[in-house]
Amino acid sequence: PADVETLGRSTWTLLHSIAATYPKDPSPTQQSDLRTFLGAFSRLYPCWVCADDFQTYMAKEQLAVGSRDEFGKWLCEAHNAVNTKLGKDTFDCNKWEERWRTGWKD
Ligand code: FAD
Repeated sequence: PADVETLGRSTWTLLHSIAATYPKDPSPTQQSDLRTFLGAFSRLYPCWVCADDFQTYMAKEQLAVGSRDEFGKWLCEAHNAVNTKLGKDTFDCNKWEERWRTGWKD
């Protein structure tokens, strides 16, 4: 299997990019696509410890797919839970869009 860190960085890039391009006002189909994707993702992610913990997180913290902002914040909190578990700094979730969609202002 690919290196857990390289895989992780690439995967967070994919997930936050999906949040960044997710509609502000998603249709029912778009919302169910995102739910289905994340459910399958949490079972297929090829780092099994990571996948187990992510499934537990998803069961505990209701997945929010009602809008870009809702999902972006949910994902940021999920990423922060992993950051905390690994002893990394947490990220300010008011800045997720600046990091992943609009670009840093400075
Ligand atoms: P990463 O955590 O990969 O983050 C990449 C970039 O995202 C950062 O440089 C920063 O700019 C930005 N960022 C950081 N935090 C946030 C946030 N909260 N919201 C938005 N943007 C942010 N590794 C393990 O060892 N054990 C695990 O159990 C584990 N579980 C994982 C579960 C999932 C679902 C995923 C996708 C990855 C998991 N990883 C796990 C990998 C781990 O999260 C990191 O990807 C890896 O350690 C590399 O970390 P990094 O410091 O390069 O930055």
